[in-house]
Amino acid sequence: MTVKEKIVIVGAGPVGSLAALYAAQRGHDVEMYELRSDLRDPSTPLLNFTRSINLALSERGINALRHSGQLKLIDHVLQPTIPMRGRMIHGKSPDGSFYEAPQDYDIHGRAILAVDRADLNKRLLDILDHMPNVKLFFNHKLTGADFKRRKAWFEIMSSETATGRAREIEIDFDFMIGADGAHSAVRYHVMKFVQMNYRQDYIDTLWCEFQIRPVENRNPEDPMSKFRISPNHLHIWPGKEFMFIAIPSEDGSFTCTLFLPSDQVASLERDPSVLPAFFDRHFPGVTDLIPPEDLIASFNTNPHLPLISIKCQPYHYGSSVVIVGDAAHAMVPFYGQGMNAGLEDVRVLFSILDKHAAREDNHPTDADNTTAAAAADKRKIALAEYTAIRVPDAHAINDLALQNYVEMRASVLSRRYRLRKWLEEFMSVHVPRLGWQTKYSRVSFSNERYSEVVAKSDRQGRILVSVFEALVCSPFVVAAAVLWWKRPHRLVGAVQGAVSWLLNAFR
Ligand code: FAD
Repeated sequence: MTVKEKIVIVGAGPVGSLAALYAAQRGHDVEMYELRSDLRDPSTPLLNFTRSINLALSERGINALRHSGQLKLIDHVLQPTIPMRGRMIHGKSPDGSFYEAPQDYDIHGRAILAVDRADLNKRLLDILDHMPNVKLFFNHKLTGADFKRRKAWFEIMSSETATGRAREIEIDFDFMIGADGAHSAVRYHVMKFVQMNYRQDYIDTLWCEFQIRPVENRNPEDPMSKFRISPNHLHIWPGKEFMFIAIPSEDGSFTCTLFLPSDQVASLERDPSVLPAFFDRHFPGVTDLIPPEDLIASFNTNPHLPLISIKCQPYHYGSSVVIVGDAAHAMVPFYGQGMNAGLEDVRVLFSILDKHAAREDNHPTDADNTTAAAAADKRKIALAEYTAIRVPDAHAINDLALQNYVEMRASVLSRRYRLRKWLEEFMSVHVPRLGWQTKYSRVSFSNERYSEVVAKSDRQGRILVSVFEALVCSPFVVAAAVLWWKRPHRLVGAVQGAVSWLLNAFR
């Protein structure tokens, strides 16, 4: 039996909003506190972290929405999304012409979805607004929490806050869910109650947003004519040490992001007029899509923001608090999984809470305080299990996200990368009972635990190396090698190079 409790959510981003929905569906009294004003209010200024960036929503995020208990939520959220079935790699051929090379994400044709983060967030808030057991408090900033006494303090943000006369309120709660983002105040206060291991890393890359505008004189008969480039791809201009990407939006525009090492950003900041030439050198074709003056204006106006990667553990304290989403595991955006992983946190957390809440207990259920104590006991066990399960998964996707930056800006151009992808997809189609898939497919199109994805992908790599080594040692290959051995040394060197290259490809 689920006991009705007061659940406080801190942070009304996508993850906090979904957590509020899950808690409300279980009949709890839910209060959600958000530092900013209501995102749906047109006068709310967009701060750095609330910018209307386009994100890739994939299976884990969709699955978490699916399990929210709101039948219409999926249609409501997915309706304005655009499927992206692969990457489109842009480059320049030796003869100077521009090329576009599509790379499908998945041999089975599955796609990730381009979604406007603010729009997704607003749709979740709209649903919460209509739930009688949910109260939303905007302009409330968590300033303190006592997780033993289950009390928290919020500053009410108003025009008076700047003059130092902010009003503070005290609330109590049974259970707090901290979904207040990478610079989480909940996490900071949890650290005072539990020995939390914590690590944060800034990578030496800043990001800045640009926009490809929709086509103005479009053909009214053809809805696709509003897009200047394919709407069904995530476009990448790889630059080895940096990259430029573009994600489609419903209105025909593309939200673009430049990822660039900080010293190069500083150099462009000193003289932004060289930006178009920089783009022409490294990102061929972009100045045909974004006029040079718009490039410079966006670079000058839009912030140049850092990318942080956070690992910590445990995620909870006793039965009174847990952190989810970026608050627990902010990651660099290169696997398109930050929000997906955060939404998945909510599904995993509530499935574990439900499992323990359904357990028979020894407490009599007639006295309210005993029932509450029993619920807290069960939650304490559930939260410990959540931390044990989720930490290795969050750490795994955190690492994969860092590795994928190299893949997106450089490896997508390498034959080694494409060979391994081709072999894994070949096995997936022709020997399906082996269950082979690319790492990308497992991460983006399945709900397998991230830690298992890494283990399985490593295993596939080891098998490919063994098979290749066995092939190299087969009598036929040995005979061919002996023949080659008698040839000039340069050829032998080339063969040895090729063998070691192929072996590395599968590692
Ligand atoms: P947030 O969205 O940060 O929300 C936290 C909320 O808490 C905010 O509303 C904040 O105002 C509030 N808050 C903060 N402090 C307090 C306080 N003291 N009191 C009360 N409220 C507070 N993810 C993907 O899945 N796919 C992608 O393609 C993708 N692309 C990305 C591209 C870029 C450039 C970046 C930067 C990120 C990308 N992400 C992507 C990651 C994604 O944006 C985040 O993982 C996601 O927004 C995290 O959601 P959240 O609700 O945990 O945190």
